[in-house]
Amino acid sequence: MLLEKLTKNQLDELENIMRPDISSQEGFLNKSEDLMFVYKIDKQVVNASEITFEQISDKLETLVGKVKRLSWLDNFDWDKIEKGYIVEGKFKISFVSYRGYQHCPFNEIKKCSEDFEHSDSDYTIINLKTKKLIFFSALHIHLIRYHHFFEGHTKYRLDPLKCIEALELEPLISYKPVYKTQYVWNLSFGTHRPKINSIEDYLDDISSETIKKLIEEVLNEGIYLKNTEKMKVILYKDKLLSFSTDVKVLIIEADGIKINISHGLQLFKKSQFKYVEI
Ligand SMILES: [Zn+2]
Repeated sequence: MLLEKLTKNQLDELENIMRPDISSQEGFLNKSEDLMFVYKIDKQVVNASEITFEQISDKLETLVGKVKRLSWLDNFDWDKIEKGYIVEGKFKISFVSYRGYQHCPFNEIKKCSEDFEHSDSDYTIINLKTKKLIFFSALHIHLIRYHHFFEGHTKYRLDPLKCIEALELEPLISYKPVYKTQYVWNLSFGTHRPKINSIEDYLDDISSETIKKLIEEVLNEGIYLKNTEKMKVILYKDKLLSFSTDVKVLIIEADGIKINISHGLQLFKKSQFKYVEI
């Protein structure tokens, strides 16, 4: 959704939403600047550079994806993340994550259904060769790709020319990220409840509706209940438990350790995980 497609009223509303302390504390525009003016100037800069909005977004998405993958492989070691990872031999990238999400302000005017419409992380990229630095939010990947917007003169503005230079973008080259997938166990439900003596006690404590829902969702894949690294519990089709006629509990002992459900349980779900190839 580009600004040219909005009505005057929608533009006014969007401009208002983008001021500080409305959809975000910092704002997407400062207190007085004109949205259309900022947008058009940046558009001219990008067009004159012969680089496309798509190339800029693709490159940011690729670098963000690579640093996320590296930190995931390191189990999110925040000391390392803060120091930064070297990506593609010349970009030093660090990031900070927040609890809340920043959503796309355009979404409040007209539904944005595309990827990356919210962000919880800010990134700093230093080009080690040229010493050029850019700072941006992961939301920029979406803002630039779908709205051709780099933000106004706020803390989060990503100057398009500085960005193109720091990333050393060249015309007619594809910077699209290469995504791969793997299966991982993701936490979908957890409890801190201590002193649970048996799986059945624990399951009885959760409403049968919740269990039924979880079972419906993931029965075919198996449900993985985990307490420690050394314990695996999988629910699968059978007729043992009272809350469902179609489920029984299978306990697997690993490394010869017996299951001890004394510190609460966590429920893991196997799902496909998408990542950018490093
Ligand atoms: Zn959007």
